[in-house]
Amino acid sequence: MYRFSRSIYRSLAPLVRADCGRCETEARQELLRSCETTISRLVLDRRYFRNPPRSLFDQVRHLFSIDDQFRVRLVIERNLGFAATYLDRMPAEQSAMLGPHHCRALTRQGTPCRRSPLPQHEYCPSHRHLEEILDPAPVGGRRAAPADARIGARVAIPA
Ligand SMILES: [Zn+2]
Repeated sequence: MYRFSRSIYRSLAPLVRADCGRCETEARQELLRSCETTISRLVLDRRYFRNPPRSLFDQVRHLFSIDDQFRVRLVIERNLGFAATYLDRMPAEQSAMLGPHHCRALTRQGTPCRRSPLPQHEYCPSHRHLEEILDPAPVGGRRAAPADARIGARVAIPA
């Protein structure tokens, strides 16, 4: 996965300003760290990572001149788009190996649940009911038809 963060870094490092309040090396290190942190979070916490391109852009935009801001945003959006597509197409067994994967629920004691989630889910069998409350669309991608549509279908049946 780090090929995506390296790709962003390689594209943006030459544009880093030397006058952004620190030496160029430190600024480039900050850029690399931000890129890697974003990719890590995209892999491990994607569901709760609202807008990865905007998050990364906000972290690093001060490292670039005003003239380069649009280009920086485009590079970030393009590469994170590739990363998201890559993750979408990755088989579930392979994506499960990308990092530590634990159930997202808390136990009654308030500690994180240590059980493994079901394949393609974020909760273990004991906490699976929490996922259904948060996400009405099952992972398979099919959403239940809204009530109006079902009523409409019933009306459309020929007599
Ligand atoms: Zn659990």
